[in-house]
Amino acid sequence: MTARRLHSIARRHGTPVVVIDHDIIRRNYASFRKHLPRVQVYYAVKANPAPEIISTLYKAGASFDVASLPEFMLVYENIKRLPARQRQEFIWDKIVYANPIKPRETLQELDQYKPLVTYDNRAELAKIRRFAPHAGLALRLRVPNTGSIVELSSKFGCDPGEAVDLIEEAFEAGLTVEAVSFHVGSQCTNFENFVQALNIAAAVIREAASRGRQIKILDIGGGFPVPYDRHVRPFSALARRINAEIGRLFPAGMQILAEPGRFLVATAAAAVARVIGKAVRDGKTCYYIDDSVYHTFSGIIFDHCQYRLKAFKKGPLEICSVFGQTCDGLDTISHSEQLPGLEIEDLVYSENIGAYASASATWFNGFPPAKVVHVNL
Ligand SMILES: *Cc1c(COP(=O)(O)O)cnc(C)c1O
Repeated sequence: MTARRLHSIARRHGTPVVVIDHDIIRRNYASFRKHLPRVQVYYAVKANPAPEIISTLYKAGASFDVASLPEFMLVYENIKRLPARQRQEFIWDKIVYANPIKPRETLQELDQYKPLVTYDNRAELAKIRRFAPHAGLALRLRVPNTGSIVELSSKFGCDPGEAVDLIEEAFEAGLTVEAVSFHVGSQCTNFENFVQALNIAAAVIREAASRGRQIKILDIGGGFPVPYDRHVRPFSALARRINAEIGRLFPAGMQILAEPGRFLVATAAAAVARVIGKAVRDGKTCYYIDDSVYHTFSGIIFDHCQYRLKAFKKGPLEICSVFGQTCDGLDTISHSEQLPGLEIEDLVYSENIGAYASASATWFNGFPPAKVVHVNL
């Protein structure tokens, strides 16, 4: 979207505002499918759970990865509202519940939908057997997360050495393991993580088959990186590596799915905020804007992401600090922004802020989350 259009939307709707461009979401989805044609897309809803995004991706052909009961119901209810011919009856085609740890009430509630759920340990297996006996299972493997911006391997995933035993135990308990899954860590710019994970998954699936247990689905998770800066190599290069490994390691009949979150939505949104205060401290200009790290810029804290700020105004750039609107010192958006001289009421914007930003915004200090405007719906 052009800066001019963004500016006019912010003028019309007021600030703080987040503008989500659905043409970009559709383009990202098409790019994923083009480069990984064997892989079905399950959008990881937690990256941005806006119902409008769920509808756009559903219409484009995507399925969904959810990680809580409210997310599951959000997708389920959205799909139910669409015309019947666009709906699929079989829930696994559309939703995978990919949080390996689930409270028992959640399992009890999910069971009626015969969901596909992940697990990575024995205690979870016992819970699933008791509270969701109609679920299909996906075993989550621990795989290298080296260099990924958000590390997950210390929290989730069974040791590959235990994997086949956990698959056996599920079948012996009368359950069915449909899939093997992994997650290489979010914003994974180290493509070797995918290569190693695919090799680990292939070895587990092969050994399970040798014990008579056929795994039909491979779930390669999320982590597909977004070009926040110039150092991120293009998605097409990652896709080439993944396609080569998939072709070499898995039979043509293996169903393959992925759970991209960030990749589909990060570049689709921009945030516009207004300068509400200005001071000079230790010789440096400090701007205060009407958004914060407790709101749209929450990704700075929770997602280890730095968003560059830009001004609509032209002029010589100077190094400055930018703070959020709340009273907390943690609410620092940047100590090293380059902006032209700004005045109170001037607008600034940040691009590539569609993933793990609005999604984790709070009401801290009494400030509501920014308004969200959808364009090209
Ligand atoms: C968060 C998450 C994703 C999405 O990760 P991205 O890095 O945003 O692609 C996918 N799968 C699981 C299990 C997740 O927890």
